[in-house]
Amino acid sequence: MSGEEQFKKIISHCKEYGFIFPSSEIYEGLAAVYDYGQNGVELKNNLRQFWWKSMVQMHQNIVGLDSAIFMQPKVWKASGHVDGFSDPMIDNKDSKKRYRADVLIEDYQGKITAKIDKEVGKAKDRFGVTFNLNEFLTTNERVVNYSNEILRIDSIMKEALESGDLQKLKSLIEELEIVCPISGSKNWTEVRQFNLMYSTQMSATDGESELYLRPETAQGIFVNFLNVQKSGRMKIPFGIAQTGKAFRNEIVARQFIMRMKEFEQMEMQFFVKPGTELQWYTYWKQNRMKWHNALGTHTENLKYHDHLKLAHYANAAVDIEYKFPFGFKEVEGIHSRTDFDLGKHQEFSGKKLQYFDTETNQNYVPYVVETSIGLDRLFLLQMCENLVDEPLENGEIRTVLKINPVLAPYKIAILPLVKKDGLPEIAEKIYNDLKFDFNCFYEEKDTIGKRYRRQDAIGTPFCVTIDYESIEDASITLRYRDSMEQKRIKIAELHSFISKEINWKNLLEKV
Ligand code: ATP
Repeated sequence: MSGEEQFKKIISHCKEYGFIFPSSEIYEGLAAVYDYGQNGVELKNNLRQFWWKSMVQMHQNIVGLDSAIFMQPKVWKASGHVDGFSDPMIDNKDSKKRYRADVLIEDYQGKITAKIDKEVGKAKDRFGVTFNLNEFLTTNERVVNYSNEILRIDSIMKEALESGDLQKLKSLIEELEIVCPISGSKNWTEVRQFNLMYSTQMSATDGESELYLRPETAQGIFVNFLNVQKSGRMKIPFGIAQTGKAFRNEIVARQFIMRMKEFEQMEMQFFVKPGTELQWYTYWKQNRMKWHNALGTHTENLKYHDHLKLAHYANAAVDIEYKFPFGFKEVEGIHSRTDFDLGKHQEFSGKKLQYFDTETNQNYVPYVVETSIGLDRLFLLQMCENLVDEPLENGEIRTVLKINPVLAPYKIAILPLVKKDGLPEIAEKIYNDLKFDFNCFYEEKDTIGKRYRRQDAIGTPFCVTIDYESIEDASITLRYRDSMEQKRIKIAELHSFISKEINWKNLLEKV
């Protein structure tokens, strides 16, 4: 299956099985805005909970926060977002479509990477077990040329982005003969900067004032730095974490929930002593990759990508990228933000945002290392990584979401074999016993085979079937989602079995 086909399948699976729906669909939808359905909300909550538990509960020196979406507009002036939070955009004059200039160029590089992958695939087939990837990548003339071309483009783009040279970006697009994916033409406008913040009005006694919808959750943490530090008696190094909605007027919103106008971030700002920030940056860079590995994501599908252009606030930055069906793309960013944010808020608010170090008897503005992950992109990653089609012995294909059991929307499906003879009563009793501790699914309709398939498709790790034997010996058939293995187990043992299998500890221990 091509990447495009795989991605289409994921999108339609998300809709068909109640994970994600286009927003306001009965009114033809709203571009790049999505709603999470009955199964999606469970999975999203579980992913958020995993992040929160691993970030806040597992660290003595990290605490949580839930700051408001609306903030004093001066916050965004101080943070640099009013003046600098923009993307370089270019329009195609024929299709009238607008693109991010750097993304057009990255997509072009992605095509070259795909060519390298194709060569590697062919060589693997040709050389079999003797194939040496490293040697091939460094000696095959065609592949070396492709790699050099990617590097050359990188370096021109880096220079153009760093110096804000929009003409240089345009020239690169022209030189690479990049065409509009819709019209196929090279009829481009100049490259221009567009601010990504949404604004709205708030009524006040002295009239209306303009507000912004926050484009990141981080600023809510910075402005509360001293509140949390003082009230929590926090000692540096310490972190403040929060999850919540962020809004960006992404002109080129596409790729499903990858780039939305309203999305959710999970961010942690770690406050450190100046001079130690790069050590902590390395620590968090490694720690966050370990976290992704703990979720079971294949290591070859994850990689670091150092930033070409450092944001105005950063002295080091890296992305963790995942190999989506449309190529490697950012899921999480780790940034060493220096004292930029606290320093700016100090300057704009006129309030001291300093920490008194009792060991050195010194006051200083702490440096910050940030980890910032998009919950929706993590959701998409989980779908791409775990949704598989498996051929069965009878020639049929089953679609299974092989998600970690702890994260699954439902932990167990309770299925009476038939809708009579006392079986539903036993099943209901099991449901009523388990529902306090686990999200359970109850279903009586359809053949047991069809019911199993539906549970596979939404990732339910265990199904229990109540049959006539259950009346005799108080046992049920337990079916494993991944192996489809079935075994008999006493109803009385079910609770402790499920507790063991879906314990958060199973996941958290690996972080
Ligand atoms: P990109 O380069 O893809 O636009 P970014 O570098 O602007 O992303 P950050 O500002 O670092 O993103 O935000 C942190 C995280 O928030 C990203 O790693 C991503 O997972 C998520 N994110 C950012 N923008 C969006 C969006 N429009 N839709 C969904 N998730 C997003």
